[in-house]
Amino acid sequence: MKHNFGAGPGILPQYALEEASKGVLNFNGSGLSILEISHRSADFEAVLKKAIDLVKELLHVPDGYSILFLQGGASMQFGMVPFNLLEEGHTASYLDTGVWSSKALKEAKIFGNVEVVASGKAVNYTTIPTDYTVSPNADYFHITSNNTIYGTQLSAFPKSPVPLVADMSSDIFSRVFNIEDFGLIYAGAQKNMGPAGATLVIVKDEILGKVNRKIPSMLNYQALIEGGSMYNTPPVFAIYVCMLTLEWLKNLGGVPEIEIRNKDKADLLYKEIDRNPLFKGTANAADRSKMNVCFVMEDPTMESAFLALAKNKGLVGLKGHRSVGGFRASIYNALPISSVEILVETMQEFEKSHD
Ligand SMILES: *Cc1c(COP(=O)(O)O)cnc(C)c1O
Repeated sequence: MKHNFGAGPGILPQYALEEASKGVLNFNGSGLSILEISHRSADFEAVLKKAIDLVKELLHVPDGYSILFLQGGASMQFGMVPFNLLEEGHTASYLDTGVWSSKALKEAKIFGNVEVVASGKAVNYTTIPTDYTVSPNADYFHITSNNTIYGTQLSAFPKSPVPLVADMSSDIFSRVFNIEDFGLIYAGAQKNMGPAGATLVIVKDEILGKVNRKIPSMLNYQALIEGGSMYNTPPVFAIYVCMLTLEWLKNLGGVPEIEIRNKDKADLLYKEIDRNPLFKGTANAADRSKMNVCFVMEDPTMESAFLALAKNKGLVGLKGHRSVGGFRASIYNALPISSVEILVETMQEFEKSHD
């Protein structure tokens, strides 16, 4: 038995894996694989509709917002957001909380001016800056809700005088939030809602159509909305697995229930990191992520021995990102608390054996 702490593509619910396997062989009793049916078939249209309806239901998305399943990952959105929302000569505001924010704002500079309202770079992104103001003249304000690499997370979302845009790739569906506070959110599926290959975008319709430039259809939210996420062939299988994962989430009680479970998992692990004299957390305590838990050893020369013990226990994906080092335990929605308990026991066993 493996316990998958990988940062992404990350763990998926067993339910989704089993149903998806069946669908690969014989989808809905059709005698055909989900991999070989038309995206215009009634069978797939029902999958896409159900995936969109589940997003709407689980996140309470009101009328006036459109839900898209696209390709290109979150990285494509780094460019699509300014392409569609940032008028030439205007300014977009960005909160720089890590590698992903930096990549996002780099793309925005292609289209207009970028104002970085605050950056955590000087402290290696261990802390999320809170002391900043957003200009009411900006076209939008971009944040990264959870910083997958540094293990920090915005515990509350800022009030913004302009449309708030969020990269929620690594914490979407992990906690309750009010979608009406946002103009646009996007998320690559492969951290917390499905496999690689699909990207979720939820956009408030009224913020679109305000820039003058021409935008190629495949990068144009309005064209993609008009096409109902089927301007071209969508990522059929990835959307199917997202639908199954969201179905699983709904059946266990939805976002409020998974938020409780995620908090329990995170509390358990941080408690051990803080208690165990061999380990220490890297993120500022107030900004700790409930999705990616980053920690190191007081004595870094012991890290490979701990990783080896963890591997023996079936704990995989714990090595920290190359830019941070140490360990990163990604404890996404689908990871059961029993896996975190085994990680904690392994840390305690390691401590005892090094007395
Ligand atoms: C993984 C990740 C990305 C990059 O996602 P791709 O789908 O590979 O483009 C962007 N932002 C965040 C917060 C991520 O965790």
